[in-house]
Amino acid sequence: MEQSRKKLRLCGAVTLSMTLAGFGSAHAKEVTDADILNDATITSQVVTHGLGTKGQRYSPLKQINTATVKDLVPIWSFSFGGEKQRGQQSQPLIHDGKMFVTASYSRIFALDAKTGAKLWKYEHRLPEGIMPCCDVINRGAAIYGNLVIFGTLDARLVALDKDTGKVVWRETIADYKDGYSFTAAPQIVKGMLITGNSGGEFGIVGRVDARDPMTGKLIWTRPVVEGHMGYKYDKDGKQIENGISGTTNASWPGDLWKTGGAAPWLSAYYDPDVNLIFIGTGNPAPWNSWLRPGDNLYSAATVAINPDTGQIVWHYQSTPHDGWDYDGVNEFVSFEYKDPKSGQVVKAGGKADRNGFFFVNDRSNGKLLNAFPFVNRIDWAERIDLATGRPVYKDENRPGNPFADGGGDGQKGSVVFNAPSFLGGKNQQPMAFSPDTGYFYVPANEWAMDIWNEPVSYKRGAAYLGAGFTIKPLHDEYIGALRAVDPVNGKIVWEVKNNAPLWGGVLATAGDLVFYGTPEGFLKAINAKTGEEVWQFQTGSGVIAPPVTWEENGEQYIAVVSGWGGAVPLWGGDVASRVNYLEQGGSVWVFRLHKS
Ligand code: CA
Repeated sequence: MEQSRKKLRLCGAVTLSMTLAGFGSAHAKEVTDADILNDATITSQVVTHGLGTKGQRYSPLKQINTATVKDLVPIWSFSFGGEKQRGQQSQPLIHDGKMFVTASYSRIFALDAKTGAKLWKYEHRLPEGIMPCCDVINRGAAIYGNLVIFGTLDARLVALDKDTGKVVWRETIADYKDGYSFTAAPQIVKGMLITGNSGGEFGIVGRVDARDPMTGKLIWTRPVVEGHMGYKYDKDGKQIENGISGTTNASWPGDLWKTGGAAPWLSAYYDPDVNLIFIGTGNPAPWNSWLRPGDNLYSAATVAINPDTGQIVWHYQSTPHDGWDYDGVNEFVSFEYKDPKSGQVVKAGGKADRNGFFFVNDRSNGKLLNAFPFVNRIDWAERIDLATGRPVYKDENRPGNPFADGGGDGQKGSVVFNAPSFLGGKNQQPMAFSPDTGYFYVPANEWAMDIWNEPVSYKRGAAYLGAGFTIKPLHDEYIGALRAVDPVNGKIVWEVKNNAPLWGGVLATAGDLVFYGTPEGFLKAINAKTGEEVWQFQTGSGVIAPPVTWEENGEQYIAVVSGWGGAVPLWGGDVASRVNYLEQGGSVWVFRLHKS
């Protein structure tokens, strides 16, 4: 009785708002700052990229666990449709019984989370001449207030009314004709929309922006190539200088900082304990390192930014003076680290870098606490020196200078065979951390490359590499390996090998399970403690996206997007040939325990 009265009142409210359009809001439940900040523990929703702004990708849900997972079955699947398949890397968001999921070619869908029924779809009209480096992918949306906001391949942001799919605002991040694009999931921090940018292979300038999520107007912008001016914006949108990032020409020679790359092309994360945004930066441009002596800040680094000021508080460069395209974009995941020397618990962050090393830094000041390999073979450096915080390079594994080596004719420098390949010990696929086991679950890859340098000069909107390459497998039986990594002793506790390179993300749960997908199409569940495979399901195309979990009416759900593509088929050389049998797709799957 009480319930039906409530329903009636709700109907009345909707009618009222329709007659008094503009005089009040009858929106469904809005997403608040508290929802964002507590996303890691509010199990009825997933409103951040990373299941919480710390990015741990850990859920306290445990209805689906090592004992019950055998009864996990699909309840619906939804096709993204059309001829627009290609790589699908999106992490779905879940709010108020709805799923918001992006798809290839800058599309977003709102679905009924229980039935998979389509509520609305938005397809961004893409211009000719976009320049995404690594497939027409998208990694997900942000959700705030009554808006769902995502980025597009032509470097724009689009905010839609989450209930109707109507566009509320559109803003341009940068000019796609310069090589800019956008593929990451934006993140909400302290009521601001935080984004980076993509385009590091085109000599763009990496930048982090904060916007008002309700209007799209800029609040501050912080370049992450040393030497560029940062800005903040007043209420009227007037640009005010906000200090140069670092010191012009301190770590870049000549004018190279003007086209220095360092694109922060994955999501930002945020830890309220230290009030810092963490974002990773990509390779310095061009790839040919002989053209840019110096550390080339803030490329290939973790950068910590104060959200209130837009200033860089600390940085840690995992590959100073990168010469291998070791983008440092991987997620810096906040966790509590028990220092084995002092016995103290330190507010730390963990990062499995593309360069093959796992880094643990104090997240309040960036100080390096631990660094160890998470792949079996690393050629470019002997180790990371914990005292200096810098790699001990093997100089012979830096591709040669075209003007000094390989004949010195200025055409092609000496070729080096080097592991990891530039696609990395880990790439865009996000890892998970379980506070139950204390392990990071890292989707790693074992591969190498032939790489050499060539001359290059900057040309607007053209690839700016100065390098050639072929990626090569190291083993016949596997490239990928899901690894449980102990951040304290640096040991790999267990691993599950995979024939194709792993390119999806990981989800850890209190049910002692780790979920991840494979390019071969399987979503798998692994015992988080032992590494035993306990469940799998074939999704019909390769999984290169991170799974999520939530609960509604006392039932736990798992979702993952399926659709093979991304960087491997485009850039993977001999590995791309090896996996060219994999089929494209484009769908999202939802699972729950079978009710008998
Ligand atoms: Ca790159």
